Amino acid sequence: MIQVYDSLTRQMAPFKPHIPGHVSIYTCGVTPYDHSHIGHARPAVVWDVIRRHLRRRGYVVTFVQNFTDIDDKIIRRAEELGRPVDDLATEYMAEYHQILDHLGVMPPDYAPRVTENIGPIVEYIEALIQKGKAYAARGDVYFRVKSDPEYGRLSGRKLEDMLEGVRVEVEPGKEYPGDFALWKSAGAGEPAWPSPWGPGRPGWHIECSAMSMRYLGAHFDMHGGGMDLIFPHHENERAQSRAYLEDEAVTLWVHSGLITRGDVKMSKSLKNGVTLGELLDQFPPHVLRTYLLSVHYRSPLDFDERYIQDWSRALSRIDRLWQDVREAPPARDVADGDWAETLVGFEEQFLAALDDDFNTARAFAIVFDMVNAAHRGIDQGNGEMARGLARRNLAVADDILGFLPEQPGTGAMDEALLQSVVSARDGARRERNWAFSDALRTILTDAGYEVLDGADGTRVHRRSLHDTN
Ligand SMILES: [Zn+2]
Repeated sequence: MIQVYDSLTRQMAPFKPHIPGHVSIYTCGVTPYDHSHIGHARPAVVWDVIRRHLRRRGYVVTFVQNFTDIDDKIIRRAEELGRPVDDLATEYMAEYHQILDHLGVMPPDYAPRVTENIGPIVEYIEALIQKGKAYAARGDVYFRVKSDPEYGRLSGRKLEDMLEGVRVEVEPGKEYPGDFALWKSAGAGEPAWPSPWGPGRPGWHIECSAMSMRYLGAHFDMHGGGMDLIFPHHENERAQSRAYLEDEAVTLWVHSGLITRGDVKMSKSLKNGVTLGELLDQFPPHVLRTYLLSVHYRSPLDFDERYIQDWSRALSRIDRLWQDVREAPPARDVADGDWAETLVGFEEQFLAALDDDFNTARAFAIVFDMVNAAHRGIDQGNGEMARGLARRNLAVADDILGFLPEQPGTGAMDEALLQSVVSARDGARRERNWAFSDALRTILTDAGYEVLDGADGTRVHRRSLHDTN
């Protein structure tokens, strides 16, 4: 039985998907306005392990992760750089995809972009207004937080306390300072979409309520994200969905811990100068990936290059055993002894650790024990058997944790993302923006696509995995 910690009830809960055998997951993705950093990698790697474990346990998993490809930060950054908003978002989305692929993270089944879901978002807002849960004011639309008696439960805050001591600038037309925007009217020259309230763009929170419903239906099993998203983002999202559905959309809220550097929290606004690209110049992808899994996903992770080096040394014990056993034939019989018991019982123990709230730290401890047991078996003259069992055990564990240097990443992009990179490249070529068009070509070829320039635009072919280059 799988147990998962639910951030809403603050308790472990048995994992029971609402459609038996299927699991639906939505996690909040990135705002693509700058390079990816270590804070982006942790939730991505954690969810990759959760997906792989659930798959191993026989579930069919549908995983949706959005891109917030329009918001104030992207608009500001595009202005600074003098580039179209859409170009900037497309480039950073592709970079994010490419880096996560290096880290062995499977692409989502759906990676919806806000700008491609404006229609469903507007309809969602209209329904909230009809239900009396939201109101329009001077081209903006706000959600009435006081309409939800449970508002504040997810984050454990009281409405009054949230506003105390904070100087809230009251926008004209807002009924209550805690109300948040569902729709924002466009400033001069800003990207805008038509709506019943005038041209504008969605607020941040509404996209996830609308897109999770579009891709997963009214109810889904797990909602993920970093702990820094609990307030205000997930609190607001929960209020919207409860108002729309008159029910809960999410069965389990699952949040990964933050990355700290010394005592300082690393967040979107405080990158501490470390991009994932720079880290991957220093450390092999499997070391970086598994360093992020070396503590339980809900614990904070102290980020320090020295700790990654220590981790890398520990990991090399697994690599060395793998090099020794990778060609070993399957074991045919089993000897007596503690070491043999450990090797035979490994898979059950390993999977049980992950059943217990995806405890990767314990799963790694069990792998290291198994490595020691294999060495004992080899030292005691049972090399053939110990190697055969160890080979199988390492393959089982690597399939979920991804600790061996050869990573299972496929390079393949989500179809919608691939199409947007291709059309952005066509646009860049039409505008004779060769630098941008070349940057997108590199991203495509690095992701394993062959790029052909035809008369009708960019065509891409997936190179076979067996091609030599
Ligand atoms: Zn979200």
